Amino acid sequence: MTRPVYVHDLDALTVQAETIRAALPRQVELLYAVKANPDPGVLRTLAPVVDGFEAASRGELCRLAEVLPGRAPAAYAGPGKTDADLAAALAADVHRIHVESPAELRRLGALATASGRSAQVLLRVNLPVDAPGASLVMGGGPSPFGMDPADAVECARRPPAGIDVRGIHAHLASGLDAPLAATVAAAVVRWAVAEVGADEVDVGGGMAVDYADPAARFDWVDYGRALAGVLDRHPGVRLRIEPGRSVTAYCGAYLTEVIDVKRSYGEWFVVVAGGTHHLRTPAAKGHSQPFTVHRRRGPDGPHTDGPHTDGGPVTVVGQLCTPKDVLSRSATAGPIGVGDVLAFAMAGAYAWNISHRDFLLHEPPLFRTGDPEELADEWAALPSGS
Ligand SMILES: *Cc1c(COP(=O)(O)O)cnc(C)c1O
Repeated sequence: MTRPVYVHDLDALTVQAETIRAALPRQVELLYAVKANPDPGVLRTLAPVVDGFEAASRGELCRLAEVLPGRAPAAYAGPGKTDADLAAALAADVHRIHVESPAELRRLGALATASGRSAQVLLRVNLPVDAPGASLVMGGGPSPFGMDPADAVECARRPPAGIDVRGIHAHLASGLDAPLAATVAAAVVRWAVAEVGADEVDVGGGMAVDYADPAARFDWVDYGRALAGVLDRHPGVRLRIEPGRSVTAYCGAYLTEVIDVKRSYGEWFVVVAGGTHHLRTPAAKGHSQPFTVHRRRGPDGPHTDGPHTDGGPVTVVGQLCTPKDVLSRSATAGPIGVGDVLAFAMAGAYAWNISHRDFLLHEPPLFRTGDPEELADEWAALPSGS
């Protein structure tokens, strides 16, 4: 078999989600941002653990309705919502619609009024937040996302007919470590309470995932403690977060087989089946996707006779006719031979679903559930190319 396989480890996903849930104060609502990975098995696995789902398109609303019928999405967000999108969100009884602009709020108000209901809204605000330790300012610059603070205050004070402003939403950055994410959350809540008297605040996602260090994890315990402090300072505020990447990234893997190895002007290249048209994450983020090597095994142990690299650094590329089709540049892969199976880890978020799958019209990957390392070992024990 040379067809690449995505493996979702749903048991590991349950553990990850439960670990996050357990680290957060009970009152903090945990939403999952569906856009990170909308796989039906992923959604079904998360459903009993999270408080709800954040959909960022009508397609995601439909996916949720199919996979989890009867469970209204917790939030509907995203820039560029058409009237049809907004009407679909109203019809789906979405708990909160996150509104991105004053004009969108007026359109939503008109649609809600026409259908005899009122829309339950959080206003997305693009707030400047100082992170002193990191000498960093987030938000507060020109952006297609959210409203300027003054516009949000105005919308909250004088909402159009048909709109019930329930609070504030902010999602200002991604790749935040726990102290930084906590600083942002505290600043957003402080602003929302002081400026619009909000008693409901969604502080977004963006918790860091470090692809260079698969063992590193966002410190949910530290973050949960900080959120408890925020709740202490603002009793009565309903606090919500909506992470995506940090929930699912670790629970997916992309398995593939080495087709060719070659030396080019002194550098080793490993060519695998598939590539960034299946797993765009390393191309999109500009990182090396971490992987493990499962040497092809015969009845007598690992094959060592076929072509293989010298054990030094390699560049792992796919089957696309573009120099951008690089999955990994690894210094420490060890020897890699034709027929070996590579298991790319951390492929559970913004992976298959962001990939330019039709480029070159290669076959799509297969999808399985289970333990990726075990499945890679099983694959490597089959006859090569079978
Ligand atoms: C993408 C997105 C998220 C999830 O972000 P992660 O980095 O995957 O945690 C949450 N909220 C909004 C508004 C988003 O656009």
